[in-house]
Amino acid sequence: MTDTLIKVDLTKSPTDNENIHNRWHPDIPMACWVKPGDDFILETFDWTGGFIKNNDSADDVRDIDLTTVHYLSGPVGVTGAEPGDLLVVDLLDIGAKQDSLWGFNGFFSKKNGGGFLTDHFPEAQKSIWDFKGMFTSSRHIPGVNFAGLIHPGLIGCLPDKAMLDLWNKREGDLIATDPDRVPGLANPPSAGTAHMGRMTGAARDKAALEGARTVPPREHGGNCDIKDLSRGSKVFFPVYVDGAGLSVGDLHFSQGDGEITFCGAIEMAGWVHMRVSLIKDGMAKYGIKNPVFKPSPMTPNYNDYLIFEGISVDEAGKQHYLDVQVAYRQACLNAIEYLKKFGYSGAQAYSILGTAPVQGHISGVVDVPNSCATLWLPTQIFEFDINPNALGPIKHLDGSIDMPLSHDLI
Ligand code: ZN
Repeated sequence: MTDTLIKVDLTKSPTDNENIHNRWHPDIPMACWVKPGDDFILETFDWTGGFIKNNDSADDVRDIDLTTVHYLSGPVGVTGAEPGDLLVVDLLDIGAKQDSLWGFNGFFSKKNGGGFLTDHFPEAQKSIWDFKGMFTSSRHIPGVNFAGLIHPGLIGCLPDKAMLDLWNKREGDLIATDPDRVPGLANPPSAGTAHMGRMTGAARDKAALEGARTVPPREHGGNCDIKDLSRGSKVFFPVYVDGAGLSVGDLHFSQGDGEITFCGAIEMAGWVHMRVSLIKDGMAKYGIKNPVFKPSPMTPNYNDYLIFEGISVDEAGKQHYLDVQVAYRQACLNAIEYLKKFGYSGAQAYSILGTAPVQGHISGVVDVPNSCATLWLPTQIFEFDINPNALGPIKHLDGSIDMPLSHDLI
């Protein structure tokens, strides 16, 4: 039987668990050690450590202290791993914990976190998703049901001190350009809520002051939120410290490209069954600076899409120069307007784009002044026909839409 090296008790606080940490720092001691070739299981909290509840109020999303996240399981030390190696991680399987067969999606208040479309959806809102085996649906969003593309939003190895200092310097410099911006341009170290795993005493307090926040993806991977880095994938991580120090968390049952809703995908507590091995001196051998990965042989087979285009002209009609972010935002907004014609609220449509296996593509970046981004909405996740036709969205004589009626997102 495969050993579960890190266990989590969802009824307890993640800060009481010494195998959990919420900052990146090279001095965080390994929670456990494995050998190349070993396979093992790590359990994880959801990224908020259980703060978001399965209920019908979004007050928790509104009030969360975002300096507390993300709660990661690890670091796992791999014997023989040295700086410059590649750590090969096979994600053999990933699942939800049996005592927690549900997940959440939401968007933060503009005053506390924001999100990709925060100017359009400035209030905190939330939807709860139930898992039935490999499928999920939400009592807050009728008419959609899809298979999970389960993946860790966050996985990576510990940085060395030079890399940690580099991260803090460059992100601090960015914050200094507009320190009062809401939401902030980046997240500086925040010692008050730092959980440094097994560190204690003065060393712990010093490390908490400089431990990098887990919010952005960086050279080591980290919070990449790549939906296709799913169970069955093989990932090659750069190693910066002896033992590598692999940590994982922020499991997603499913997510659309971009994780545009930010809180987040369909967030869940769960477990990861993985196997590790090493490519000695692999970073130099392959010229690898950021992780690379191979996709899973198994993905949900949704192959029919309605594809929305967006260009780099913003909502106010302002022309931007080849701005892919503006273009993708327009593609998302176009999809939301379309879905509203079928009876969804804007918030429900936004949530669908953040949770379903939606693809986002950078389609053109050279045709000045407009970049073109596309959002690929899978049609088969809907329990009714969403394709355009001459009759328009199907409505009953009483004006209602041909989909189950339900209350809105909370
Ligand atoms: Zn997440």
